[in-house]
Amino acid sequence: MKLENMYETLRNIHGPQGKWWPGSEEEIIVSAVLTQNTNWKNVEKALENIKKDCKNNILHCLAKMSTQQISFLIKPAGFFNIKAQRLKNLLTWLKNYDFDLEKIKTKNIEEIRKELLSIKGIGKETADSIILYALELPIFVIDAYTKRLLNRLLGIKLKEYDQYRLLFETTYPKDVALYREFHGLIVEHAKMFCRTKPLCELCPIDSCRYKNAKD
Ligand code: SF4
Repeated sequence: MKLENMYETLRNIHGPQGKWWPGSEEEIIVSAVLTQNTNWKNVEKALENIKKDCKNNILHCLAKMSTQQISFLIKPAGFFNIKAQRLKNLLTWLKNYDFDLEKIKTKNIEEIRKELLSIKGIGKETADSIILYALELPIFVIDAYTKRLLNRLLGIKLKEYDQYRLLFETTYPKDVALYREFHGLIVEHAKMFCRTKPLCELCPIDSCRYKNAKD
């Protein structure tokens, strides 16, 4: 298996994923913070609570709330006090752009990323998820699943987050739809087969370095 074939291989197994990350652009921004260290079911519960209180633009609505109010709503997502503060920090940044995502998009990716990373509690994975899935700009999101799959499939282990990101971005064209779906496929594959304890007997990929090393 080569990195060049990874997308096609995963897509043949799991089928089209489309945008993959559900929800409106505003919901994606909020869920990018909520999903830190928890599963998606808990994120959905927290989002439901928010949507019950915020009928229209959830960013505007949350910005008007206190950190305490937000932490009450997002309780199901866990680490609710920390996440409420992180959301508040993010909302303060968004307010500079009047909560208008189009205004943010007038800047280039590097500038946007730099600003996002300067917000307390926003790391690279969260920043890049917001850039790719909410702002629709081409950046490759790296997470623990991506690192695991790259290591097991291809024997690639790198030191830095950005080394992984650049590896994908120089191997594949800068394409929002492709990067969104590819990241989704990686997560789906890691959840279904390439778990912490991998289910290699059931996994359809035969050209896997890890699987072949075991045989
Ligand atoms: S064969 Fe095993 S190690 Fe390789 S991708 Fe599939 S589950 Fe992961």
